[in-house]
Amino acid sequence: MNMYNYKSEIRNPKFEVRKILNRIYEADIPQKDDLIYLLSLGKVSDLETVFNFADEVRKKFMGEGIFLRGVVEFSNYCKNSCLYCGLNKNNVKLKKYRLSEKEIFEAVAKISEQKIKTVVLQSGEDDEIDPKWISRIISGIKSKFDIAVTLSVGEKDVSDYRLWRKAGADRYLLKIETTDKTLYKKLHPGMSFANRIRCLKDLRNLGYEVGSGIIVGLKNQTIGSIADDIIFFKKEEFDMIGIGPFIPHKKTKLGAEKTGSVNLTLKTVALTRIVTKNSNIPATTALGSLDKDYRISGLKAGANVLMPNFTPLPYRKLYEIYPGKRCVNESPGLCAPCLLKKAGSIGRFIDYSKGDSFKKYERIPQSV
Ligand code: SAH
Repeated sequence: MNMYNYKSEIRNPKFEVRKILNRIYEADIPQKDDLIYLLSLGKVSDLETVFNFADEVRKKFMGEGIFLRGVVEFSNYCKNSCLYCGLNKNNVKLKKYRLSEKEIFEAVAKISEQKIKTVVLQSGEDDEIDPKWISRIISGIKSKFDIAVTLSVGEKDVSDYRLWRKAGADRYLLKIETTDKTLYKKLHPGMSFANRIRCLKDLRNLGYEVGSGIIVGLKNQTIGSIADDIIFFKKEEFDMIGIGPFIPHKKTKLGAEKTGSVNLTLKTVALTRIVTKNSNIPATTALGSLDKDYRISGLKAGANVLMPNFTPLPYRKLYEIYPGKRCVNESPGLCAPCLLKKAGSIGRFIDYSKGDSFKKYERIPQSV
């Protein structure tokens, strides 16, 4: 480093931020202290430095295209009682639904009509659904449409994961929610952190593209634990990483808690981009639920994926994991033009390819 840079480093604290950003970018595994320092930044100019750095990394590794994933929430039944989630089994007031095979295929047809090439089939942990029924849906979709199938149906036995992979499922989303084991235990009565990790490992071994992620701003979650989460993302080389703010839902145990900070969420997105380089990172629906412009902020802070909702209208508002979800009354037909406009407004474009993981090509292929 020459003298000029050295002097400006002393005089200009912004330069310090850049230096640390560079360090986490270069590191095989970033230092926790560096991540804590960056996550703690509060000045607008520092935040801009972090977001711009992440945007550069996104541009370099992912380009300007935004991948779309059409989400179909096919059941809101859940056997779990996660303290933050509106679908928890103790929320007995919630009207329950399961989509029929026909309704799912109609939703997938709408996704396909809009040239979107990924469907995410998501549900609560609904143990009443026969895994073979899901299997039939997957193979039906794969035979009728040129589309990647992503599942997000929670913790299951390896035999189910294998069955669905064999039926043609390509990807699986299972957020770790937090890597803080004490916090995880408090938030998920009757569940275990070890089993969640087991699931993520099984999915990886079966050759799925694996997505994970966290909620930001949970009560008792520390900056240090978010730093650990980011290190976990880096070590596990996830194909996709969803990071959303905590949104309190009245019918949950955490209903009276504070909403997660948007800036902390955006910093977590940005640092995740910088350390993972080429993971697919959505500007999450949760972020968009707090304000219509926050998904744009996510896209400018390292994100490269949007997940429009294609759940049929009468059911959409019943999949209330948190309140205030956007577009619960709008027809899916309006999605494409709206997203196109969003992308265009920040000089990006919609990439209508399947948006396979770049990380996948760096791994040795697995047999099912
Ligand atoms: N049963 C599936 C899908 C769960 S819902 C599974 O276990 O993977 C999808 C995601 O919504 C969850 O992983 C969680 O991160 C998020 N979520 C749930 N409640 C939330 C809340 N109140 N605020 C923010 N995100 C929430």
